[in-house]
Amino acid sequence: MSVRFFDTRRRALVDFVPMTPGEVRMYTCGPTIYGLAHIGNFRTFMFEDLLRRYLKYRGFKVTQVMNITDIDDKTIKGCNAKGIPLDEYTQPFRTAFFEDLDVLGIERAEHYPSATHHIAEMVEITQKLLESGHAYKADDGSIYFRIATFPRYGALSHMNLAELKVGARVNSDEYEKDAVSDFALWKAWDPQDGTVFWDTPLGRGRPGWHVECSAMSMKYLGQTFDIHTGGVDNIFPHHENEIAQSEASTGVPFVNHWLHAEHLIVEGRRMAKSLGNFYTLRDLTGRGIPAVAVRYLLLSTHYRQQLNFTFEGLEAARNAIGRLRDFRQRLTEVTGEGAGHPDFAELITQSRTGFEDSLDDDLNASGGLGVLFEFLREANRRMDAGTVDHQDAAQALRFLDSLDSVLGVIKDQTKSDSSDAEIEQLIRDRENARATKQWARSDEIRAELAAKGVILEDTPGGTRWKRKL
Ligand SMILES: [Zn+2]
Repeated sequence: MSVRFFDTRRRALVDFVPMTPGEVRMYTCGPTIYGLAHIGNFRTFMFEDLLRRYLKYRGFKVTQVMNITDIDDKTIKGCNAKGIPLDEYTQPFRTAFFEDLDVLGIERAEHYPSATHHIAEMVEITQKLLESGHAYKADDGSIYFRIATFPRYGALSHMNLAELKVGARVNSDEYEKDAVSDFALWKAWDPQDGTVFWDTPLGRGRPGWHVECSAMSMKYLGQTFDIHTGGVDNIFPHHENEIAQSEASTGVPFVNHWLHAEHLIVEGRRMAKSLGNFYTLRDLTGRGIPAVAVRYLLLSTHYRQQLNFTFEGLEAARNAIGRLRDFRQRLTEVTGEGAGHPDFAELITQSRTGFEDSLDDDLNASGGLGVLFEFLREANRRMDAGTVDHQDAAQALRFLDSLDSVLGVIKDQTKSDSSDAEIEQLIRDRENARATKQWARSDEIRAELAAKGVILEDTPGGTRWKRKL
């Protein structure tokens, strides 16, 4: 079976066919660094992390590019409001973005190009489009893409241009479908831009947002590449415009597979600052919610379904992770000698196939998690019955770890102030204190461990421990 994705342009599930066998080149629209990314942004980034991790699990060599939008209407407005240079304004948000990626266990892409470092490439595309008549300079000195010269305009978002009232032109980076118009490739300097401008062969000004992604994707991935992703709100106008600019300037198809993640709502309502339900990752971790629970919740709804982000869902995610981690721990403690049971090996094989069938089917992570929990229940039942030996458990652990290379929720990836060795030393000290009836000392160590977020469980076989979720 091959991997299948729902392609936005073809509106169908299609087999994923890479241009080069065994390799994937993909572009994922990145953050605009004028503020902290919110959980709606992270829903899309998490979907892209799942996509990347699963393609790697399937043996593909992945080259992923995620741009950093450090110049657009919003960053310019932000830096001018503060009266500071653009890079000084964006830097803290750039740093915070990468910190958040790490906290959520999102794997790093191969390239994170910044728009401000690729002005020359954007100018070059714009010049080509001017020369070929796909673009024109307006009276204000700005340069616009003439959508009437690109008959396929609208094919991604399935708009029928003939039925739309097409406006003359639009200068802002973001606009709605009812404002479909010629859009800005290059914006001539305006006093409102303050100190943000570049002097180029196109004149003094700055690029439009859309051309940034065409320039950076093609620079790192070539004129045609395998996968382009984003949130559904990127389909129009952003990705529509990327296709028009790129294909009109190169004459070849831009992207083979377009994948888009649906919106996220919070407690059943649109997320908005005015509704008081707008959350950054830090808002949640600041409330003591483990980032891995956020990760799990974002992964567990299919990326093409609207995700309802709730605190109840976070609690359920936390419990689910706890069960998976307890299960993994239990497997490490299986001691019985033996050569392994063929029916246990068969259970693993079936579960692996079930997991892969789900993920192959347009990244159905919720289906994959269902298979994993079915495996957990059955393996626990067999451990209760004493029919699992050390050999079986070792195989099960390898299986769990390979699934976790896709999910990233079972192994504890949180950075802790104390290493495992330090914690184990404290546990030995406590056991010694108990053996010599120094109860006060024993309680003291237990409290110290609790303060480190370590939970102890005294069993006949000794003290078990785990980090609190
Ligand atoms: Zn983009």
